[in-house]
Amino acid sequence: MMNLNSFEVTIKCGYCKSKNVDVKIIDTNSTAIAEVYCNNCKNKEKLKMETEIAMKQVYWDIIEQSKQGTNFDSEKQFHNLFELLKDRDEKFIRDFNDEWSGISHSYIVSDRDEYDKLHVSNGGIVDGNDTFYMDFGAWLVSQGEKLFKRYLKYGYQEVINYIKMNDIKEVDYTYECMDYVFQDLAKYKGHEYLTGV
Ligand SMILES: [Zn+2]
Repeated sequence: MMNLNSFEVTIKCGYCKSKNVDVKIIDTNSTAIAEVYCNNCKNKEKLKMETEIAMKQVYWDIIEQSKQGTNFDSEKQFHNLFELLKDRDEKFIRDFNDEWSGISHSYIVSDRDEYDKLHVSNGGIVDGNDTFYMDFGAWLVSQGEKLFKRYLKYGYQEVINYIKMNDIKEVDYTYECMDYVFQDLAKYKGHEYLTGV
């Protein structure tokens, strides 16, 4: 359906080659070390990864952590994201922000027709322009890797199913705006913006 992009990271079990693995990054100092657990054959191994790929996993992990205990309350998740990032150095936050923008770009721009099916004018669930392209787009990123990959693979219906299945309130999936966290972080670090100057 859609072009899979650079955010698609495929890690396989070194023993049975299954893709059904849990990946945990345990060290990113020089080369990144990941611990890979295979859900298929239960093989556990350590793997050296390219740092860039490993960092994508780290960002997704942070997003996943920010969802914990929120029961899809976006206000709470926003607060969690801020707390998880505020003590990171500025480069880390900037890189995370870049990655975040890239993911949001993949949602919205990689196949515009597919994304637009989520708009009420096409029978979807979100109205407005800014709300649809900015707030909802940022919220989608904040829902994590699983939904992102399923969207790229199966399309807009995955998002509708996800919202229904989890009984997520409109006020939460149109939350304004999850990526303002980067502005708040910039202020917290004493700048107007994270990029520039
Ligand atoms: Zn395996």
